[in-house]
Amino acid sequence: MPAVPHDRSPVRPPRRLALAGALIVALPLLAPGPATAAAPPRTGTDPRWTATGYGGAVATVDPDASRTAIEVLRKGGNAADAAVAAAATLGVTEPYVAALGGGGFFAYYDARTRRVHTIDGRETAPARMNERSFVDPATGRAIPFDQAVTSGLSVGVPGTVAQWEQVLDRFGSKKLSTLLRPAIRIAERGFVVDQEFHDQTAVNADRFADIAPTRDLFLPGGKPPEVGTTFRNPDLARTYRELAERGPDWFYRGSLAREIVRTVKNPPVVPGASRNVRPGLMETGDLARYTAPMRRPTRVTYRGLEVYGMAPPSSGGSTVGEALNILENFRLSEDDPVQAMHHYLEASRLAYADRGRYVGDPDHVDVPLSGLLSKGFARERACLIDPDRAATSPVPPGSPDGDYRACEPAGGATGELTHEGPQTTHLVVADKWGNVVAYNITIEQFGGSGLTVPGRGFLLNNELTDFTLQPPAPGAAPDPNLPGPGKRPRSSMAPTLVLRDGKPWLAVGTPGGSTIITTVLQILVNRIDLDMDLPAALAAPRATQRNTPQTLAEPAFLERYEAALEAMGHDLAPFPGPPAGQIGAATGLEFLRPGLVQAVAEPVRRHGGSALVVRPVR
Ligand code: GLU
Repeated sequence: MPAVPHDRSPVRPPRRLALAGALIVALPLLAPGPATAAAPPRTGTDPRWTATGYGGAVATVDPDASRTAIEVLRKGGNAADAAVAAAATLGVTEPYVAALGGGGFFAYYDARTRRVHTIDGRETAPARMNERSFVDPATGRAIPFDQAVTSGLSVGVPGTVAQWEQVLDRFGSKKLSTLLRPAIRIAERGFVVDQEFHDQTAVNADRFADIAPTRDLFLPGGKPPEVGTTFRNPDLARTYRELAERGPDWFYRGSLAREIVRTVKNPPVVPGASRNVRPGLMETGDLARYTAPMRRPTRVTYRGLEVYGMAPPSSGGSTVGEALNILENFRLSEDDPVQAMHHYLEASRLAYADRGRYVGDPDHVDVPLSGLLSKGFARERACLIDPDRAATSPVPPGSPDGDYRACEPAGGATGELTHEGPQTTHLVVADKWGNVVAYNITIEQFGGSGLTVPGRGFLLNNELTDFTLQPPAPGAAPDPNLPGPGKRPRSSMAPTLVLRDGKPWLAVGTPGGSTIITTVLQILVNRIDLDMDLPAALAAPRATQRNTPQTLAEPAFLERYEAALEAMGHDLAPFPGPPAGQIGAATGLEFLRPGLVQAVAEPVRRHGGSALVVRPVR
């Protein structure tokens, strides 16, 4: 593969230094206040957020997790092994976003078969759940969202352990017991609390204080651990050790399954706490039935590239794919960045309308996936974009019915943007054989449900809040994302792999709830259309348009584009967070030429990530 895209491909060589430098200099504005002051110093020559070299590469949000992946690669493990080991380590060092008690989506390029595979580790609703489970019978309305968030009701059957088993069975070369060792070591010896860990604890301190095992573990001495202190999690070390010995069955059918169910049905609330922590509906049979299926990935072509993503129950692949298909109808160029951003926002607006109307768990609802991803449908949707004027949201969904006419007027009802917690994590790994992973792991929002399984050292997710909690009024458009027995809530997670000439070129993904889709889309547009290299494409200021009246944006985006886009009718406002003013925390990698990989993490958002390679080149 050439170092830069060759003539046949529309992807041009990036103008690396000028653009990347300018953006990185501007970025500290994104994280004002003490958080920025505490960020580690950056060096110009060897930043910890990019690394280029041979033998394998990784980017995560956390140095311990990245080091774990590199250790596995050095010892002969492949990308699948390294991803599982890094995820287990994140369970220790990022326990509020990645835990045994959560789920995720795994995308894998298998160099041997030259195919992309995806594994669905999404949590499932208990068999006793139905579309009115979140409705308060007294009011007929969904319970207040902040009550749903901290509850047993919101806990889905965790998918991560079954997903690791599936990943290793299909693609791994090491045993889970071996891959858990680095995480066990870190959980036992402890790690140094950084600003990010402190901040994530602090935003949860109120609710954590009301749940006894969560308070005891994460609020030592009654408050968030201080930056610079050592945090140990011996309970989690024991849990990982037992998992290593007994295997995933212990989690889904053994005594740990019973402990999880007990926690969900009788949340361990501190005596005297006034918080109403509703019990959940999970039974041991729900855990026993859980599987992490292989799903056929989504695939679209974009300007000669192949873009693979996560199919439903995630809306990541279908919405990124539809938006790219729409954008392919336009010429975007770095010579006119305002036009490019206008089209990016408009394509996203339209694709979100379709996501809301059509995407849910495909095992429970009919998702017209091939229609949503067809070029004909995209042309019909692209016709609705006025090159000089923003549309007013909410715009109605289109009809991916196979009968496509240019500029078909859209009709029908509109969906509202459902709440999705904005904070989980994403990692990428490549190995020396050319296998590539993009992996989103989540317990939904920072701290998940707030429920720690007593004595086990991990938090349970609140992923079921990704369902639409309020059923639609009679006569309104059907909602594909209502709760149901065994159903998986719709996700936005979008681990994405891009192939050029049939070979891996890019891997990218991010946390950020429903902003995940726009962040991945914007990074792809930045890299493919706007002539940025990958570090610049990740660092560039972001905006997110999800078919809402306002487009929310980071401060540096507003500074650069607000006046020009508002003149075209866009209504821009600052992204409220959390964390305020920051959208996502992406990781990515790019094959610069065969074997030579650049791994890229965030320079600033969430205090920066960590990129490493096995054999760096300088
Ligand atoms: N629950 C969210 C989703 O599945 C994940 C949130 C995040 O990854 O930031 O889309």
